[in-house]
Amino acid sequence: MTELHRNFIAGEWTAGTDVAKNINPSDLSDVVGEYARADRAQADAAIAAARAAFPAWSMSAVQDRANMLDTVGNAILARKDELGRLLSREEGKTLPEGIGEVARAGQIFKFFGGEALRLAGEKIASVRPGVDVEITREPIGVVGIITPWNFPIAIPAWKIAPALCYGNCVVFKPAELVPGSAWALADIIVKAGFPAGVFNLVMGKGSVVGEAMIADRRVDAISFTGSVATGRALAAKAVARMAKVQLEMGGKNPLVVLDDADLPTAVNCAVNGAFFSTGQRCTASSRLIVTAGIHDRFIAALGERLAKLKVGDALATGTDLGPVVDDSQLKQDLDYIGIGQREGATLAFGGQVLERPKKGHYLSPALLTGATNAMRSSREEIFGPVASVIRVKEYDEALAVANDTDFGLSAGIVTTSLKHASHFKRASQAGMIMVNLPTAGVDYHVPFGGRKGSSYGPREQGSYAREFFTVVKTAYTLP
Ligand code: NAD
Repeated sequence: MTELHRNFIAGEWTAGTDVAKNINPSDLSDVVGEYARADRAQADAAIAAARAAFPAWSMSAVQDRANMLDTVGNAILARKDELGRLLSREEGKTLPEGIGEVARAGQIFKFFGGEALRLAGEKIASVRPGVDVEITREPIGVVGIITPWNFPIAIPAWKIAPALCYGNCVVFKPAELVPGSAWALADIIVKAGFPAGVFNLVMGKGSVVGEAMIADRRVDAISFTGSVATGRALAAKAVARMAKVQLEMGGKNPLVVLDDADLPTAVNCAVNGAFFSTGQRCTASSRLIVTAGIHDRFIAALGERLAKLKVGDALATGTDLGPVVDDSQLKQDLDYIGIGQREGATLAFGGQVLERPKKGHYLSPALLTGATNAMRSSREEIFGPVASVIRVKEYDEALAVANDTDFGLSAGIVTTSLKHASHFKRASQAGMIMVNLPTAGVDYHVPFGGRKGSSYGPREQGSYAREFFTVVKTAYTLP
């Protein structure tokens, strides 16, 4: 009999009211496992447990928090190969990418183990003689954490670790498609010895468990990563009841390639940024904005590299691109390739559904050339291995096109000109800027987030995470 992976509510492993099968997108006959799905009452019980645990946890010793977070980090790192395999099996990114993501999750927990000991306040002279003013940070309370499927362990880690670090209690709802990594992470957190109710795992549907968390006044803050549509609707409800909200959403990230670029660097940045992880990254470079003097050489060199990429089983040695995560995402990718072509772009490379020995959702990396920035395929997030090349005259036009988007997560430029690189860093309307580097792939100890339609609320990661996961208090004393 298949083992049922249960939810963790109020210190107990608890069966759901429903069960979901976790399917491997590289091999649709492979069931990764069976996972409980909670109903509203179970979400309610998790919130109640978190609420009840908060008074004691919020006052807990920082050394205890530091130790437990460090223990979680070490346990993740010790199992990175096994957990990386699980992640790649359920999500479809390649094994090296899966192992890399798990290692990153381990490092994040260890980082916030250190941060627990570093939270400082300020003492300032009052305008009134003899009065002391202290500014301190306190935990917010119960944090609802809602995550997407494309980073099944790193995104949960970069929300759960700071939440616990600063003394908050957590109700964690992972994405339906990837409960395996979430459950394994929860198991490690549980074994680190957090008191009952401090951490709760509630796997289930967004429309059931997610909605329950959004509506409940006992949940003080919601940290969400996912699509723009879900994020917007969720924020409207949460803000209406004055909850603190942090949203990380989609992107339509530009990679600008200038005439003076080193061609191999430009191709590396485009291949990595647009197509690795099957293009299923919020930071993917889906718009390649290329100046006229290098345009044709760049497309020729990029096409050569794409032809060499091996699309196949995520777990197989030598695979460069795993499958698309599921059939509805594959349909979306194909629909957008069709939309781009009908709008006038040319499908210069790929975009074909591929047969492999095992049935999965395989798509060859697709390059649309002759695109304009007005096309829907250039404006809306596709979230697959699909990139559009937009030809521009020179730097000024490239910058204008790069900024002409509803999103603003990351933006890259490939150039050997210090003048243009420096100007782009300042003038690009995105949260993260990459010079001669892919738009995707960021460090775990510095702030992550965007502008415009990509993000809402304070930054995630690094010491900047405390902005969301703490609340400021100003205290006056007349000794
Ligand atoms: P999604 O919006 O469909 O789902 C995200 C989460 O929200 C899931 O856990 C889902 O169950 C939950 N949810 C769905 N409906 C809900 C509701 N009514 N109430 C509460 N919760 C609900 O997104 P996805 O398809 O899982 O992820 C892909 C998206 O995530 C892409 O748009 C991508 O750009 C974005 N993303 C952004 C970042 C970032 O940091 N900016 C990182 C990774 C992914």
